[in-house]
Amino acid sequence: MTDIPRDEEAERNELAARSAGVLAQSEALFNSMGDGAIATDEFGRIVRVNPVALRLLGYEESEFIGEWFPKVVVALDETKSPISLLDRPITKAFLTGKTISDQLLYRTREGEHRPVAATVSPILLDGRPIGAIEVFRDITLEREVDRMKSEFISLASHQLRTPLSAIKTYSHMLIDGFMGELSASQQKALDTILSASDRMNELINLLLNVSRIEGGNITLNIKRHDLNKLMSELEKELALQAREKNIQLVFIQPKTLVHVRTDNLIAKEVLTNLITNAIKYTPDGGKVTIRLRARADSAVFSVADSGIGIPKYSQDHIFSKFFRAQNVMRTETTGSGLGLYLVKGLVDNLDGKIWFKSEENVGSTFYLELPKKPTIVS
Ligand code: ADP
Repeated sequence: MTDIPRDEEAERNELAARSAGVLAQSEALFNSMGDGAIATDEFGRIVRVNPVALRLLGYEESEFIGEWFPKVVVALDETKSPISLLDRPITKAFLTGKTISDQLLYRTREGEHRPVAATVSPILLDGRPIGAIEVFRDITLEREVDRMKSEFISLASHQLRTPLSAIKTYSHMLIDGFMGELSASQQKALDTILSASDRMNELINLLLNVSRIEGGNITLNIKRHDLNKLMSELEKELALQAREKNIQLVFIQPKTLVHVRTDNLIAKEVLTNLITNAIKYTPDGGKVTIRLRARADSAVFSVADSGIGIPKYSQDHIFSKFFRAQNVMRTETTGSGLGLYLVKGLVDNLDGKIWFKSEENVGSTFYLELPKKPTIVS
């Protein structure tokens, strides 16, 4: 049997019908999306906009089509200042050829500022952008929930302080024999109550500090400080903690004195957090090395441990609020996942940088860089 040659015109019709089908499908997808979507050509002119985008921004389709995207959709930052063209996700997506996500405020037609999470993907043909699609969603509710969560943390931590101080005061009075002689088992029980309330106190302080950072209520006291002295203080204060876990704590000072302008208490809190974590996440008999190095315009601390490390898949999340990696949940039950979140907020306030490298079951090294002359005012 021989093949019957296909009629060319029928083939063309079939192809046209198929591409019309694909087009209709993508049109339907675009229009039925739950998020706002705007498509532009290679010059950033709007070629398509879906009903959700129009509703979120309060415009009619005819006011958008053919217009230059950055002109009709005004974007503002958190301080409500206009975002420069170069910093807009759409420009970055065009310039880099990569998908760019950001959170910003869009000005609606009525002049309101709507917080949105936007993702812009360039449409590439042979590696060259021929347009872009921006998808964005309203995050007003998420922001409100976040604000309420912070408010709750602040309220709860303030309210917890008073009863806790009563627990501690009376436990101390009992231990010190103010209310009569105690038996050995009563003493032991009170010791447990006291150490549990100390832990609770630490947690409350952490929560209070988090709410201070989130509320922008950090008062800085920037002065010229001798970091070698800070290292010696930390060495003394953390020695006992390390000894209790049989961890070798090594401090390596540079040969010269290192001075920076910073808030000493905050820098100390950051380093205490990093060293405490290093001790906590290093098995008995391990080693933690803290080193200070001077650079031309900054000082860099490193805190290296021989501990359990951070799994690769968790490394992007460890500065997020309440995040704890799976491997620590198995070995160390106490922890809130707030320490590094707070540390990151504090380091930002100091105009510093924090980063780390880590390998599971080998160890982690955290780095803290403090500028010698930060561009912050206290
Ligand atoms: P936590 O209260 O759990 O210690 P942190 O915010 O201080 O919370 O740290 C967040 C998570 O980062 C920890 O739960 C742990 O998974 C990981 N982490 C931090 N420091 C170390 C370290 N030195 N070694 C291994 N994991 C660490």
